[in-house]
Amino acid sequence: MAAGVRLVVLGKQGAGKGTQCVRLSHRYAVPHISTGDMLRAAVRAQTPLGIEAASLMTTGELLPDELIIRMVSERLSERDARSRGFVLDGFPRTVVQAEMLEEILNESHKLHCVVNLEVPTDEVLQRLVSRRTCVDCGGIYSTASPPIQGWTCDTCGGEVIQRPDDTAEAIMTRLQAYERETLPLIDFYSSRGLLETIDGSKAPDDVLRSTVDAVERRKREME
Ligand code: ADP
Ligand code: ZN
Repeated sequence: MAAGVRLVVLGKQGAGKGTQCVRLSHRYAVPHISTGDMLRAAVRAQTPLGIEAASLMTTGELLPDELIIRMVSERLSERDARSRGFVLDGFPRTVVQAEMLEEILNESHKLHCVVNLEVPTDEVLQRLVSRRTCVDCGGIYSTASPPIQGWTCDTCGGEVIQRPDDTAEAIMTRLQAYERETLPLIDFYSSRGLLETIDGSKAPDDVLRSTVDAVERRKREME
């Protein structure tokens, strides 16, 4: 059986986190834990959490740390994540969340590394305005590479749409929140010796290969 992994993936909106996290989760047979996907599912299901989250998400603001931490720690306590590990996508996003994650994971389940996907801002802006997303599985498409059959997801048959927060205005708010709240995590993880910076402007296959190389090196070092 393939060995698992414990990874955090950082990167601005449109850096390719979602795409790479799906591939990494298959590669290591661990759950892909995306706070954005979990929240969008809650919004669609109209749960109390979803109702609370919807308006902040549409404007591109971050949700309160306590709410996110509760949601993620519940998910991390499930059996698959405890035994095999995880790829975390969209969490942590603030230093408070990163500190909480350290507490949850404690000594025996430390992260193997934190992957930082670097892509210039003008390129992510271009990617985001043309991005289209499957409402059911989070699959990523673009106006340049749509699904095979109309706007129906190739993987799950779900409806492929433009996310309500992929508008020019919400994108600016999200990028500002990233600089303000999430950029400090680069220093946080670099000072712990965990950061691996990967050039995310290459083709998805190349980005995956560089990331897996870095993760494998880390895993060997930790053995
Ligand atoms: P993106 O990174 O492309 O902005 P995500 O799909 O990761 O989008 O998240 C969508 C929205 O969900 C965010 O704009 C924010 O409102 C909320 N969200 C997701 N993860 C977090 C988090 N860790 N802390 C606070 N809010 C979050
Ligand atoms: Zn789908």
